[in-house]
Amino acid sequence: MAQFRSLEHALKHFFGYDTFRPGQRQIVEQALQNQDLLVVMPTGGGKSLCFQLPALLKPGLTVVVSPLIALMQDQVEALQDNGIGATFLNSSISWAQVRSREEAILAGRVKLLYVAPERLLGEKFLPFLDLVKHQIGISRLAIDEAHCVSEWGHDFRPEYRQLQQLRQRYPNVPTIALTATATSRVREDISQQLALRQPTIHIASFNRPNLYYEVRPKHKQSYSELLQQIRTTDGSGIIYCLSRKKVDELAFRLKQDGVKVLPYHAGLSDEERSSNQTRFLRDDVQIMVATIAFGMGINKPDVRFVIHYDLPRNIESYYQEAGRSGRDGEPARCTIFFNYGDIKTIEFLIDQKSDEQEQRIARQQLRRVIDYAEGTDCRRTIQLSYFGERFAGNCGNCDNCCHPKPQEDWTIEAQKFLSCVARCKERFGINYIIDVLRGAKNQKIAQNGHQELSTYGIGKDKSADEWKMLARSLLHQNLVEQTADGYSVLKLNDLSWQILRRQREVYLAVPAQQTPTLEYRDRAEAEVEMLLQRLRSLRKQLADSQGVAPYVVFADSTLKLMAQQRPQTLSEFGKISGVGDYKLAQYGDIFLREIQGYCQEHGLTAQPAVKNKSITPQPTYTQLNTLELYRQGFTVEEIAEKRNVRVTTIVNHLCELIEINQLVDITQMVSPERQLHILEAIKAVGADVLKPIYTHLGEQISYEEIKLVRSWWRQQNRR
Ligand code: ADP
Ligand code: ZN
Repeated sequence: MAQFRSLEHALKHFFGYDTFRPGQRQIVEQALQNQDLLVVMPTGGGKSLCFQLPALLKPGLTVVVSPLIALMQDQVEALQDNGIGATFLNSSISWAQVRSREEAILAGRVKLLYVAPERLLGEKFLPFLDLVKHQIGISRLAIDEAHCVSEWGHDFRPEYRQLQQLRQRYPNVPTIALTATATSRVREDISQQLALRQPTIHIASFNRPNLYYEVRPKHKQSYSELLQQIRTTDGSGIIYCLSRKKVDELAFRLKQDGVKVLPYHAGLSDEERSSNQTRFLRDDVQIMVATIAFGMGINKPDVRFVIHYDLPRNIESYYQEAGRSGRDGEPARCTIFFNYGDIKTIEFLIDQKSDEQEQRIARQQLRRVIDYAEGTDCRRTIQLSYFGERFAGNCGNCDNCCHPKPQEDWTIEAQKFLSCVARCKERFGINYIIDVLRGAKNQKIAQNGHQELSTYGIGKDKSADEWKMLARSLLHQNLVEQTADGYSVLKLNDLSWQILRRQREVYLAVPAQQTPTLEYRDRAEAEVEMLLQRLRSLRKQLADSQGVAPYVVFADSTLKLMAQQRPQTLSEFGKISGVGDYKLAQYGDIFLREIQGYCQEHGLTAQPAVKNKSITPQPTYTQLNTLELYRQGFTVEEIAEKRNVRVTTIVNHLCELIEINQLVDITQMVSPERQLHILEAIKAVGADVLKPIYTHLGEQISYEEIKLVRSWWRQQNRR
């Protein structure tokens, strides 16, 4: 510790980061004081650093217990790539390798040792640990994925139970347990099973602010929406499907369309699965289409989107699966494609379960998922309430907050629907009623003579999907009922009759037509983008030559900063967040050369980093929200109205965005001639105060326009 002025200094030295994530600093401090700790943080929260940094600052070896070989290997590679002495022992390595690693440990060249729980308690290993303790000391035990110790969790591993013995053998070695599981039951279990001594418990919020959550209707065009998202996203994505068959079909179709994609499901051989996973981690392919078999152990930090092409089974698994995106804290998108047909499929699967209790739980969970999918509240509020966390809503980063669905009056349609149910004598299900309403000509209707009903064909003006949406919503709002005998026959209740008697109105949240967001690119952004592509391919080359994943070399966010700031010297390069001293020495020259070469070819200069701090300010969610609408072509006034704020607020958002280098096409609001006038005025009277510019322009141009152009001018002149 003595060699570092502060913890921040040590953080930058070893990991290249400028600041701690929420909670990390306090945990590190307490770890340095040898306290027992229980850390509950969502995926991507930055748990590993909580024991890695203390391990580097303390004498002795930190022993990390981790359940998955792949995870272990990843973490060790990432540490080694930061020049940190780390290694692992598990069943995948040879006896000779074990020997040489043990020697390195005893020679004090290793600060972090990762082991699988079953090895830890092996006959030979404990005596070895005794030796380590005696010769160089054990600074701490870190139990990763600690929920594996609990039968109440979803990943129970009996080997974890034996960790208690380890605690008994080394009672004075402080322990840290880490998990992303949110329930209190599991938390208590961990504390007890691992015999933690008066542990300090850190529970981080489960909110993942960088994830954008949305639910989209699934229909015929969904595949092209999917394809478009893949093609317009720079980075990896996971697409979850319900069955192996669907995985194979979708992967095949995407491949036909030129997407680099691989499948992952339990029907593939072990080798295929592990090779597909590695190729995904290393960015050889962009997309993984998978069943939920593709799960824990995917700690690829730069997954940019997770799509559920079929409905997830329950909220907790949805949270975890979607949470595999954006672990690096950069924006990522989580989409569910939802239609009512999927519910039937899942219900069918539930019916296959033999245990009645299990069936009941599964049905209840499905209900919650449907509530989520149909919900019109902030998606975060719904998700977090599931974990008992209160969230105020209005997150500004989910579809319901960004594009609130208009409530429409569907009373007349509801009357048509319910009266059709009544006329069919409450003996049929949704699909049949819709057929009658839409005037279908089929045998069943003919047999029942229902083409004679007064409600036959009165619903042709709406599509079958729209009628289904209404029916679901009626069920959902308890305005009609459905039998639970497997036939799902519709039955009217008191509320249905109130509607029929015009004593009650029906409102529906109608999904807005989603306009796909097309990124507007100006020249500056295109330059950053092109340089970024080159840095990416350099990164890939270096990663391949070392047989590691690209993110091990540098994170996406770090590459982005390089492309934006275009450092020209090693010292500038070293200031970029994500560049620690070791990486600076290892990669500095080669990346600098690439950047300089690019600048020369394109006649560009450096883009000096923001003064004092090397962090580029990131837009806030409310700003991003504005930007998204703006890019969709809404005017400032429309955005103000939608978001229920003043026009000046929106203009201010745009100005701030421009000044932190976000792409905003101001021509949309200020014509090129007016831009020129404003620029001339700025030249004449300076940019500090608005009034003189306004006066200079003969009070002919609005303050809003001046502000926007001034921000653009400032941003240009900062380079
Ligand atoms: P978890 O285990 O909680 O899912 P990780 O420890 O894998 O999360 O960290 C997630 C990502 O965040 C990793 O890519 C890691 O390098 C990065 N990270 C961790 N701490 C910081 C920090 N203080 N600043 C920037 N990035 C960080
Ligand atoms: Zn929201």
